Amino acid sequence: MSTTPIPLTRDYAQQLDANDPLASYRDEFYLLPSIYMDGNSLGLMSKRAEQTLQDLVDSWKQLGIEGWTKGKHPWFFLSEKLGQMSAPLVGADPEEVIVTGSTTINLHQVAATFYRPEGKKTKIIATDLDFPTDIYALQSQIRLKGLNPDEHLILVSSRDGRMIEEEDIIAAMTEEVALIVLPTVLYRSGQLLDIERLTRAAHEKGILIGFDGCHSVGAIPHEFSKWEVDFAYWCNYKYVNAGPGGVGSIYVNRKHFGTLPGLAGWYSSKKDKQFDMELTLTVCETAGAYQTGTPHIFSVAPLIGSLEMFQEVTVEKLREKSLKMTRYLMDLIESELAGMGFSLANPVEDERRGGHVSLEHEEAVRISRALKEAGIIPDFRAPNILRLAPVAFYTTYEEVWESVQILKSIMLARTYEKFENKRGVVA
Ligand SMILES: *Cc1c(COP(=O)(O)O)cnc(C)c1O
Repeated sequence: MSTTPIPLTRDYAQQLDANDPLASYRDEFYLLPSIYMDGNSLGLMSKRAEQTLQDLVDSWKQLGIEGWTKGKHPWFFLSEKLGQMSAPLVGADPEEVIVTGSTTINLHQVAATFYRPEGKKTKIIATDLDFPTDIYALQSQIRLKGLNPDEHLILVSSRDGRMIEEEDIIAAMTEEVALIVLPTVLYRSGQLLDIERLTRAAHEKGILIGFDGCHSVGAIPHEFSKWEVDFAYWCNYKYVNAGPGGVGSIYVNRKHFGTLPGLAGWYSSKKDKQFDMELTLTVCETAGAYQTGTPHIFSVAPLIGSLEMFQEVTVEKLREKSLKMTRYLMDLIESELAGMGFSLANPVEDERRGGHVSLEHEEAVRISRALKEAGIIPDFRAPNILRLAPVAFYTTYEEVWESVQILKSIMLARTYEKFENKRGVVA
């Protein structure tokens, strides 16, 4: 992978930490007794996120209904404010992002809004490596239009079970396609798709295209506005560290402002009209239109504190460190775990690699259990994938080094063999 071999010592890892410009942010988080390599599934709690959650609990306690318009973070404007604060994470204009709903519901919203089968143009493109919820949601949206998902949902196949080739997606863009929904980063292999190229190709064919950003937002900068991506949606509890069940986000390109939301509600209104309580919806002329009802204030609260840190650091800086850490991790794996039955499932190039390293091993379930016992929290994905995510905000190079050392000792001593070959309920 690298041209010159790196030193394999703990010393070297400590040197990398000493030279890390983001090192001070580690103290902003509540760390666990274990080494946490699962921030791509659920980011850790920061002290600032905890504080803003507490602020909003207090505003309820102290203000009652007045909290909608008063206090430190008035609830009525929070979704818009957080949309503005998240916009730099995805390269959007402030009004193009709204914090609302959850990933799956937000996909239902954008599909209900932008999937408009007409004449021959009735199909949706997705891939056979998508996160299942995306597929279930698209199938149900097709059914709601009275169509058969077996005929109208095209799943572009992976050639190797790990990656999806952009040219295969482009080849599937026929005149029958109305909509394309793709992940930015594939959740298993961590492959980053070429969003700009795919968007250009879709638009050349007159097809709308949107992305599921769950595995990239907060880890990788995007330029959704510049690339003219039509829409996107993501969760904020992975790399954005907004807490379990934290509210998700929707981006809609401004050229679509004014498009009636597929799933409307009174929060789709222009803000100053909402409390007129008219029976005709005056639709908001920003991404705010794609809200439905009252925001989940406590589930959105930690995001305020978390996004403040993103504003200070910028996602570009986080990406820089993340790439260095995953490169270091891959180099260590290559040197220390050679011949132990692992293969790297993620792309090695910086431009195609997401925020995690993906290791395949036929004993992945048992190895992940042995790692947990040894004080490392990895992430297992059926049937044979171990995902390791060093997170730029709080993981150290030394922890990366130590994870590989422990993994090596588990393999050498075969301690994984004492565990049952069965995944946990949440894996
Ligand atoms: C995490 C994740 C989801 C989760 O959806 P929820 O509605 O938040 O449960 C969906 N899609 C992808 C690609 C994910 O990584």
